Amino acid sequence: MSAPVEPEKIFSSDNIAGASPAVAEAILAASRGAASPYGNDAATARVEARLSEIFEREASVFLVPTGTAANALSLATITPPWGSVLCHPASHIHNDECGAPEFFMHGARLLTVEGEHARISLDALAQRAGAKRGDVHSSQPASVSITQATELGTLYPLADIQRIGALCQARGLRLHMDGARFANALVALGCSPAEMTWKAGVDVLSFGATKNGVLGAEAIVLFDRTLTQELAFRRKRAGHLFSKMRLLAAQMEAYLADDLWLANARNANAMARRLASGLAALPGVQMLGEVEANILFCRLPQEVIAGLLAAGYVFYHDRWAPGVVRLVTSFANTPLDIDAFIATATPLARQAASHPVTA
Ligand SMILES: *Cc1c(COP(=O)(O)O)cnc(C)c1O
Repeated sequence: MSAPVEPEKIFSSDNIAGASPAVAEAILAASRGAASPYGNDAATARVEARLSEIFEREASVFLVPTGTAANALSLATITPPWGSVLCHPASHIHNDECGAPEFFMHGARLLTVEGEHARISLDALAQRAGAKRGDVHSSQPASVSITQATELGTLYPLADIQRIGALCQARGLRLHMDGARFANALVALGCSPAEMTWKAGVDVLSFGATKNGVLGAEAIVLFDRTLTQELAFRRKRAGHLFSKMRLLAAQMEAYLADDLWLANARNANAMARRLASGLAALPGVQMLGEVEANILFCRLPQEVIAGLLAAGYVFYHDRWAPGVVRLVTSFANTPLDIDAFIATATPLARQAASHPVTA
């Protein structure tokens, strides 16, 4: 049996950390007493009201257990079986959901649109959106899905979301946002939740929480309430209507209370910046791109990677290119965790720099 991995040494993703204490306590409290089933309980109603307040608009809210369910059910509601979803090739819906969107869309396709740093390029999108419109032999562009923050930890600036929203409106396309890391993006941009979504043209949002302090709950936030009934039937049919919805509602309520969700995201982002500035000061380390949210990429000498792994650190490396490392920080990381990582990496980097390996 291998030795247990210390949680403060895991930088592979932000779904490694558990839950914020307030969320864990809320689950326990929700387990007591009676509550109406299937989302007809008071906590679920409060979550919908609170999210409507946060988004400054009456929204329909559907709690689901996974981000994949949130994305797939959202996309199925805005895309007919003969339609297509335009998305980035690096998107989670395209790479990491085992065909769940296509499964729930009953034949609609995902069509990829290129763009740098995991962001869809507006020009490429305009081209794709216009291709083969009205041609009965081709699936019809029906929706666009963007990820904020992206799978690479980059952000769409507000102006870009607005441009994509305007293009969608002009072409009659629905706009979905995969917000698995919505809070990280929001606090980084410093705009309001309304500005980053419906005011820019987003029709439906997968509002992530699991990666930012919740044990297991995500919300579909529908800004177009005409889709409410359809989504309700789709969720039940998919087996995602929890009879004890309070389990999900309690988590979401605690997550939103006292701005815990924002504080958690600020911490995760701050830890990524701390990690980046520590790494950037080391010899032989090359930072790759800006740290916009809670994910950073850098290139490390192989000796440093090997030394960090030997010290018990866990992270993805050499997947994108030799020596390229991805580090993800979370709400649960402390400055001590980050400083310990840098303290481990420092002698390894100095050692590597003093004996350059010839390629
Ligand atoms: C983590 C993640 C999801 C949700 O994944 P689940 O494992 O289904 O909860 C969705 N989109 C992105 C961009 C993610 O990083």
